Amino acid sequence: MPHPDWLVAEDDRFSSLVLPNAQLDRLWQAGRWCEGPAYFAAGRYLLWSDIPNDRILRYDENDGHVSVFRQPSAFSNGQTLDREGRLITCEHGSRSVTRTEHNGRITTLADTFEGLRLNSPNDVTVKSDGSIWFTDPSYGIDNDYEGGKRRSELDYHVYCLAPDGELRRVADDFEKPNGLAFSPDESWLYVSDTGATHRASGPRHIRRFRVGQDHRLSGGDVFAESDCGLFDGFRLDIAGNLWTSAGDGVHCYAPDGTRLGRILIPETVANVCFGGISRNRLYVCATTSLYALTLNTRGHHVIGEAIAPSDIRAPART
Ligand code: MG
Repeated sequence: MPHPDWLVAEDDRFSSLVLPNAQLDRLWQAGRWCEGPAYFAAGRYLLWSDIPNDRILRYDENDGHVSVFRQPSAFSNGQTLDREGRLITCEHGSRSVTRTEHNGRITTLADTFEGLRLNSPNDVTVKSDGSIWFTDPSYGIDNDYEGGKRRSELDYHVYCLAPDGELRRVADDFEKPNGLAFSPDESWLYVSDTGATHRASGPRHIRRFRVGQDHRLSGGDVFAESDCGLFDGFRLDIAGNLWTSAGDGVHCYAPDGTRLGRILIPETVANVCFGGISRNRLYVCATTSLYALTLNTRGHHVIGEAIAPSDIRAPART
């Protein structure tokens, strides 16, 4: 069966990752800038940020209902879950990274580095040892639209919050560090630089770092260069393929850096996230809308154990 027009294969390997008969579903369209998706498997819902509207939204996978999860949300942006399934949120408004506890209270995890205020944490990922890694560009303090116009106290870096509470700067040579994610074996950390938003010839790429002992990074060569828009946020599948936002949709890269193909989306994409019972549902936050499509691969994530095929079943019904 040929691919639909919106699935563009650029390498033979792409065909094994997509389903030619799957649909691209627009699930909702009433946002201004959607980003920061995080999927909760037990509740089968997706949370994501609508930054200019200062809210976190919730899509219920069971019945398709969309509701407001939190408003105001301190202009939340990137989100993920920690090892205990708690929501971790980057907040532009409070210039911090927070955790929503099991009882609903919100704990500030990081808002300063060496006594200076963070800029506006943008995106976040959690390693299996519980460490929380995030980027801190200026987008949330550049204007009042996506946060609040404020003076920057720090340059734009990548940070790691260790399980013991120590906040460490792990990369300091970015113009605008943005999305980040680990390879499935956590030997690599991918981090995008979207410096082209502020300097025409600035970076529009994803770099890849070796992850060493004590949360130290090395290397950092450019892994992928965008030819359409910017790589804002991204996730990896269980085979290590990287699914990233771009100007014309979602681009998929093999671990060797080859672009395998593109999923064309009618709006600029900011971030993606795997969900669904089999983690084969790719949720796409794209400007005003939430889209989803089912892939022939599964997302990698660090919550719980790795998913073996025999583990996957629909919820029991009585
Ligand atoms: Mg971002």
